Amino acid sequence: LSDEGKQMIEAHNLLRKFYHHLLVNTKEGQHALEYLLERGFDLESIERFQIGYALDSWDFDYKFLTNKNFQPALLEKAGLIIKREQDGSYFDRFRDRIMFPIADRHGETIAFSGRSLGAQSPKYLNSPETAIFNKSKTLYNYHLARPTMRKLQQAILFEGFADVIAADRSGVLNGIATMGTSLTEEHVSTLKKNVQVVTICYDSDSAGIEAAFRAGNMLQEANLQVNVATMPDGMDPDDYVKRYGAEKFRNDIIHSNMTFMSFKMLYYRKGKNLQNEGDRLLYIEKVLQEVSHLENLVEKDFYIRQLAEEFNLSLDALKEQERQYSQSTH
Ligand code: ATP
Ligand code: MN
Ligand code: MN
Ligand code: MN
Repeated sequence: LSDEGKQMIEAHNLLRKFYHHLLVNTKEGQHALEYLLERGFDLESIERFQIGYALDSWDFDYKFLTNKNFQPALLEKAGLIIKREQDGSYFDRFRDRIMFPIADRHGETIAFSGRSLGAQSPKYLNSPETAIFNKSKTLYNYHLARPTMRKLQQAILFEGFADVIAADRSGVLNGIATMGTSLTEEHVSTLKKNVQVVTICYDSDSAGIEAAFRAGNMLQEANLQVNVATMPDGMDPDDYVKRYGAEKFRNDIIHSNMTFMSFKMLYYRKGKNLQNEGDRLLYIEKVLQEVSHLENLVEKDFYIRQLAEEFNLSLDALKEQERQYSQSTH
């Protein structure tokens, strides 16, 4: 790491500690702490994830860090302060937000995501890409989750920070999330180095379901075993833990999950009436196309048999059709 990179990390680490102090120990941070506790976060998680609070000030971070001899230009490159066009003066990027530090694989703070307390937009404000922070390579909670991921050979992929933290509080320690972006090939290869199984546990809104589809295909392409844990209508994992508690979350969601193929089958059924011949044929075609992408022959056989049984079709015809799809896509 360059000298500049090291200084950027040092600035982030100092700020992380200060934000955390403000949240936990000061009157200025009290409303933010109350907000978190109200949402079901506990002090232990707040400590473990080093959650903090950025004051409602335009220059607190600027003063705090320049007083410690960091150069404004460096802090600007680190994404912590922003330069005003008009007069070249600086202001803090993060103001009046709950601060989630983003760590690299060694646990050093390389970025922040700040959540607004009320309805201010954006809901989450992330650090920009910098010399030390690359969104498409970073997985939230990777440094804490890695030992458990490796031990269990499984990672749970969530959409949001709050989901990872709610899972962790429930005893699910192998959760990670992307930085509000789609899963990338870099994320996939990081996961591939650590686990055999990835369980996707995204929000059960249409955005979450679409994203689960895309992520699942990428993970499957990398020969990872993919499971999907679904939430009841419209909920996300963090809502689920708050509503039903840790134990139910662990049991229902993490242990009883479906394969990616079953998830896709459910998805293709939605909005179709399988009593209707046309819909039925469309559904069978979709499933056979999915089956044709599977690498594992035993799995292929399993789903083809399932289709044959459910719709009372000839195994040979299904196999032949699957073979045709398979040849046209490979
Ligand atoms: P919360 O529970 O705090 O309301 P969430 O995690 O449920 O947040 P979602 O709207 O489900 O929020 O979004 C999932 C993730 O996408 C967030 O955790 C965050 O990383 C990212 N995200 C959401 N909104 C924004 C935004 N406006 N800008 C950048 N990233 C965002
Ligand atoms: Mn969402
Ligand atoms: Mn959500
Ligand atoms: Mn949420």
